[in-house]
Amino acid sequence: MSGDNVCMSCGACCGFFRVSFYWGEVEGEYQVPEALVEPLPPFRGCMLGTNQAQPRCVALTGTIGEAVSCTIYPNRPSPCREFEAGDAEGACNRARAAYGLPPLPWLAQAIAVVNQPASPATAG
Ligand code: SF4
Repeated sequence: MSGDNVCMSCGACCGFFRVSFYWGEVEGEYQVPEALVEPLPPFRGCMLGTNQAQPRCVALTGTIGEAVSCTIYPNRPSPCREFEAGDAEGACNRARAAYGLPPLPWLAQAIAVVNQPASPATAG
């Protein structure tokens, strides 16, 4: 989850996906707290609470769709750092839809632009 304002009133991505990453992020660059990581042998781990039928990361506080925050934001793993609000593949809005939240407007606009038929070439 990124840290801009729309994410602070959403949090759907933290309660929708399995958040997995290489174990090296626990001891390496990001120092993800080991106590909050479920090992996925041999080389990976995932945020506790995200490897289940109805995921919710243990690091997430608040109410999804209202007000949320990540309690380990400076130490969050790479999937959280790389996830983009309104991403082109629609992952953000799939998570939002699971919580009955509307798609982010800028994604809907981007899809509309991409789906527009090409302009006919003008005869010279
Ligand atoms: S670590 Fe933070 S940003 Fe990542 S899924 Fe958990 S609550 Fe969300």
